[in-house]
Amino acid sequence: MSDRQAALQAIKNLLGPKGYMADPRTMAPYLVDWRQRYFGAAALVALPRSTEEVAGIVKICAGAALSMVPQGGNTGLVGGGVPGSEGGIVINLSHMNKILKIDPQAMTIEVEAGAILETVQKAAREAGRLFPLSLAAEGSCQIGGNISTNAGGIHVLRFGTMRRMVLGLEAVLPSGAVWSGLSPLAKDNAGYDLKQLFIGAEGTLGIVTRATLRLFPPLKAKTSLMFALTDLEAVMALLAAAQQHFGERLVAFETLPRLALDLVLEHIPGTRDPFAEAHPWYALIELWDFEDPDPQALQARATDGAAELLEAGLAVDAIAAQSGAQEAALWKLRESVAEAERAEGAGLKHDVSVPLARLAELVARASSEVEKLLPGARPIPFGHAGDGNLHFNFAAPEGMADEEFLAHRQAIAGLIHDLVTEMGGSIAAEHGIGRAKRHELKRLKGDAHLSILRAVKAALDPQNLMNPGVLI
Ligand code: FAD
Repeated sequence: MSDRQAALQAIKNLLGPKGYMADPRTMAPYLVDWRQRYFGAAALVALPRSTEEVAGIVKICAGAALSMVPQGGNTGLVGGGVPGSEGGIVINLSHMNKILKIDPQAMTIEVEAGAILETVQKAAREAGRLFPLSLAAEGSCQIGGNISTNAGGIHVLRFGTMRRMVLGLEAVLPSGAVWSGLSPLAKDNAGYDLKQLFIGAEGTLGIVTRATLRLFPPLKAKTSLMFALTDLEAVMALLAAAQQHFGERLVAFETLPRLALDLVLEHIPGTRDPFAEAHPWYALIELWDFEDPDPQALQARATDGAAELLEAGLAVDAIAAQSGAQEAALWKLRESVAEAERAEGAGLKHDVSVPLARLAELVARASSEVEKLLPGARPIPFGHAGDGNLHFNFAAPEGMADEEFLAHRQAIAGLIHDLVTEMGGSIAAEHGIGRAKRHELKRLKGDAHLSILRAVKAALDPQNLMNPGVLI
């Protein structure tokens, strides 16, 4: 028996028959990413139930130089959670999904890394607290995945990214040693803040197994408004005015161009245009109240605010949700864009951010450059305009075959990433680098930046076994 075969057998023995999959048919969904762009291979998918089991698997892999891909809910959009052709194993955390401890006084919750985001939100709510991270994949993505991608979502404007919500974590290092940094101390200046190494590391430095997360006071009431606008400059002017007007109550500010709404209306059942007429751009705003529990008081504040903003000429039309059902219907339009794009066919996706003041300029310049390169390509820049992050996607020109369209992937990505870099932005605002943007990172980040990344990776994972082919 080769070393590799012996290692695989040792992992199977450690986990028992319910702790792994080796049948190609059952493994298949774990070897392809959500966008179905990356199809990988693995000798097995391990499903550990405890930190000890994760450490045991990793030790065996380290001893036999077998590569490992940590995997959460597999909702990542850059191919970081699926293997390539390295021939190692996938370590999927979904069996480690417990809420371990919740302390409403200290405002903390301790969870296993495989806990689903929505489960954590619910546990916080039931304890009279709030866990504010929210994204369209929240019913499937896991806390370990959220930490490893430093997930953003719709509430970054008010609460920041996942990094701000992680108080402590535990991780299994590429050697199999366990690093425990779960303590929720507000003050700990004993040298480097090691937990930060694992946040946004995309599984390249170790496997996150548990985390202590920060909770917030509960919201008392919430409501939403949708505005119709003429262009993206107007959207950005509305953002500034809404921040001024609603202050701390403004927790989300998202934008959609008309094409995004058209695709949702066409492909997602049960959706309808909330306005009587079509408009070029939309902004969706969420307001929360942390003091007054009367939903009607917040709704009245929202309706008055919308009227004032309209009167000031900051938007063309506005709708204030009058019930939870109406609010959910508005948000469904925003949350379904990715699904609708997928139903429309091949797409070219770019998750970018630039300083707020340059967002409209980016969209105008990039759209016109892409039009020169591929006439008829349909821009769909949508998303988290409130924090300067757009999913700047393109659909194929009408009638063009997917294959012909996708042949332009590199040229269009290069063009957009060059512009974003020139404007002082990021080519990976919230989804990470993964397999998709590794070469762009290398092309666009300076030597100093890359040498630090490589030095950190080499220090923790000298054999390059933890998620090889991702990020670096
Ligand atoms: P996976 O996809 O399984 O993995 C992602 C990365 O993390 C991989 O590199 C993987 O190796 C690593 N990883 C996973 N678990 C661990 C672990 N325990 N230890 C170490 N490494 C690990 N993202 C946003 O930020 N904001 C959004 O608004 C947003 N919206 C989305 C909407 C849709 C419809 C979809 C499908 C995705 C969206 N995403 C968004 C992307 C995705 O949901 C997030 O990146 C999420 O944080 C990934 O979590 P996951 O558990 O699915 O991780």
